[in-house]
Amino acid sequence: MRVTTLVIGAGHAGLAASRFLTDRSIDHLVLERGDVANSWRRERWDSLRLLTPNWQTRLPGHAYDGPDPDGYMSAGEVAAFIDGFARASAAPVRTQTAVTSIRPADGGYDVVTSGGEIRCRCVVLASGACNVASVPSLASALPPSIAQFTPFDYGNPNRLPDGGVLVVGGSATGVQLAAEIHQSGRPVTLSVGEHVRLPRTYRGRDVLWWMDASGLWNQRYDEIDDLTRARRLPSPQLVGTPQRSTLDLNALDAMGITLVGRLAAIRDGRALFSGGLRNVFALADLKMERLLGMFDEWARATGRDADVGAPERFEPTRVPAVSPLQVDLHGGAIRSVVWATGFHPDYRWLHVPVLDEKGQLKHEGGIVEAAGLYALGLPVLRRRKSTFIHGIEDDARDVIDHLAGYLAGANLLSSRA
Ligand SMILES: Cc1cc2nc3c(=O)[nH]c(=O)nc-3n(C[C@H](O)[C@H](O)[C@H](O)COP(=O)(O)OP(=O)(O)OC[C@H]3O[C@@H](n4cnc5c(N)ncnc54)[C@H](O)[C@@H]3O)c2cc1C
Repeated sequence: MRVTTLVIGAGHAGLAASRFLTDRSIDHLVLERGDVANSWRRERWDSLRLLTPNWQTRLPGHAYDGPDPDGYMSAGEVAAFIDGFARASAAPVRTQTAVTSIRPADGGYDVVTSGGEIRCRCVVLASGACNVASVPSLASALPPSIAQFTPFDYGNPNRLPDGGVLVVGGSATGVQLAAEIHQSGRPVTLSVGEHVRLPRTYRGRDVLWWMDASGLWNQRYDEIDDLTRARRLPSPQLVGTPQRSTLDLNALDAMGITLVGRLAAIRDGRALFSGGLRNVFALADLKMERLLGMFDEWARATGRDADVGAPERFEPTRVPAVSPLQVDLHGGAIRSVVWATGFHPDYRWLHVPVLDEKGQLKHEGGIVEAAGLYALGLPVLRRRKSTFIHGIEDDARDVIDHLAGYLAGANLLSSRA
């Protein structure tokens, strides 16, 4: 089979690419190993809600129009929203079709799938940035008596054995799971390293309204000083709840969760944590203050002060009076560990020399270092908002513009030959 362009993945990124390919009448096919919006159906924990508000949940020509614009969608609602977008844009999706290999072939790519082989000129990799849970290698030193979970197999607290739980990671996933597990009655220890603290609302508006309105989320990848760092930035400590409550470390501490430093090693049956919580907390507080200060400055400079509440400042993160530097893993206090230590993409099927030594895709704003190969949906791909649902429209338009130019150039060359 031959097709001009193959899009790998029918999440919101692949479907946005398809939408712009259709607009430009570029013949294409979207291949999806599961169903449309597979990651929202299969890979999220039961209680997950978006941390971006409903009014911000928009795709090209398709926006939330329900009765609760300030609410936060459940994973099932996100899947239905993305499904609606696929139907509205009549995306040519072939579901239950896994891509098992992509190799360069003269002037294009040979793609092997669970449903046969396809030759194409261009490929858009929209297979997701969060296919695999990043679990540190020290996990293998945990005693076998301790059950281990990642956000993919966690589901809900009932799957955990009774007893204490060590949650590793203080970003959005870690703080949300720590709070939920604590509410199930299990004692929780949360190990935190560098993190991004944010209040849920600021001056009466969702903090993500400020990110959007101030233009910060729109900042382009080629305007960012330290792009590598921006691409590695952990997700903010946010949760989407009807109460719009803030879930920072002060909130977790007030619940009775034990905060410890970064998990540094597991040795002789003991988990060893870094000290220096005071510095880690102070740094996160400082960065939050700076960000809120930027928002204040933007509101003042653009005459928006009257539209929002008065500037707010928040209590610094409280340093716990006692923070253990180690925990005996044989003592029975910890019965399970939840790795909330991030995610990474899976490119094991990509046989094109475009990965660096860390397995990361080498690309310039989604234009991969191989002719006709493109990517979407990776962190800060073209803008700070790239991995968020509302962030895909601008990125997909730019990337498909480039792809269309590439095809036009290639056609010109072949017609001259
Ligand atoms: C826990 C979590 C919470 C998040 N919360 C928010 C939020 O609140 N707001 C927000 O805007 N964003 C959020 N995001 C970020 C982002 O919206 C999601 O990661 C989103 O799923 C990315 O969309 P995507 O289309 O790039 O990738 P995915 O949704 O992962 O889609 C990729 C698709 O490719 C398919 N695929 C992968 N490999 C293959 C293959 N070899 N062959 C065929 N198909 C393949 C997968 O099955 C999948 O359907 C969150 C992400 C995570 C992980």
